[in-house]
Amino acid sequence: MPEKVIIIGSGPAAWTAAIYAARAELSPLVFEGAITEENRQAGTLPLGQLALTTEVENFPGFPAGDLSLYFDSALEPQIRMMMAPHEKKGVSGPELMELIRQQAKNFGTRIVTEDVVDVNFAVRPFQLTASDEKTYAAQSVIVATGARANYLGLPSEEKYKNRGVSACAVCDGALPRFRNRPLVVVGGGDSAVEEADYLTKFADVVYLVHRRDQLRASKIMAERAKNHPKIKILWNRTLEEVLGNDKDGVTGVRLASTAGQPELRQDCTGVFMAIGHTPNVAFLKGKLALTEKGYIQLTTPFRTCTSVEGVFAAGDVTDDYYRQAVTSAGSGCMAALDAERWLAAQGE
Ligand code: NAP
Repeated sequence: MPEKVIIIGSGPAAWTAAIYAARAELSPLVFEGAITEENRQAGTLPLGQLALTTEVENFPGFPAGDLSLYFDSALEPQIRMMMAPHEKKGVSGPELMELIRQQAKNFGTRIVTEDVVDVNFAVRPFQLTASDEKTYAAQSVIVATGARANYLGLPSEEKYKNRGVSACAVCDGALPRFRNRPLVVVGGGDSAVEEADYLTKFADVVYLVHRRDQLRASKIMAERAKNHPKIKILWNRTLEEVLGNDKDGVTGVRLASTAGQPELRQDCTGVFMAIGHTPNVAFLKGKLALTEKGYIQLTTPFRTCTSVEGVFAAGDVTDDYYRQAVTSAGSGCMAALDAERWLAAQGE
């Protein structure tokens, strides 16, 4: 018997889709991704980008305060035991993801800890091949594989991830370590300017490090950066090394010049990478229509339909614009409702 709905992904969109699909008695099967070194390196382990962040202060329903009793009651003991002590600052990204996953499990979601590596959407039921080489059949599919922030791939960048290196100012910018200190943002697009602008709320000064002498950001955003009293643009510079130590995390950066200038060292307590995101669609190439930027194309306004009837998509894999946990969760809910209604229309 084919599955009624298979959900691929492990972030807020996937688990929210699972909650709704499970409550609609579709008995969803979620492929949450494989736990492999390759996925760790790529930032695509189960639980997605939020598992790589620290406190989440903007997800509705998790105000600051001691939520430990709630976590004790909601999470499986073996998961709870592995969590860092709760610091009374709302919810951490990993805690939030474990809670949403648990909520989906509570309604009967089944979970496979493997990647989906190939799909055949040209046949009905759809055929999916997992990383353990097993194949699965599904009447409908929800793709919620997310996107991953691009990093430069420097060993020092990897070393200080979550200890001053971040790719999400909105997630991490308000943390104490970033307050009233110099910060660095790497990139020259709208995201970099937006991140720099956002970080000025907390930072002493934000150094925007860009490899050229012109920003890629839209004119209005570029002007905002140039005129902001707390943003200083370091033109024609590339990040060569994140400096730091075990005790303090990030303490500075070493910057090379692309214009023949001497190397520059800059003190800072945070480095925010804003050099674009890559949607996780490798296994979908040629199977679903993608946008020019490589995200899954949604074909109907305010719906989660894709170019293949019966295949729906939600979250960051469709979204190069909002990219928030709450918008992803919302679109996961929409995808489950779309799948449920589509299956009903097929007489399922
Ligand atoms: P983006 O426009 O692709 O810009 C990426 C930036 O990172 C570019 O400046 C690029 O430099 C730089 N970069 C890329 N690889 C690099 C590397 N290896 N080393 C150093 N620098 C590197 O990406 P984005 O800023 O994330 O924006 C994505 C899309 O979302 C855009 O269409 C943007 O307009 C949109 N967006 C809009 C808003 C808004 O309107 N408020 C906010 C955020 C994003 P080069 O310029 O030299 O290529």
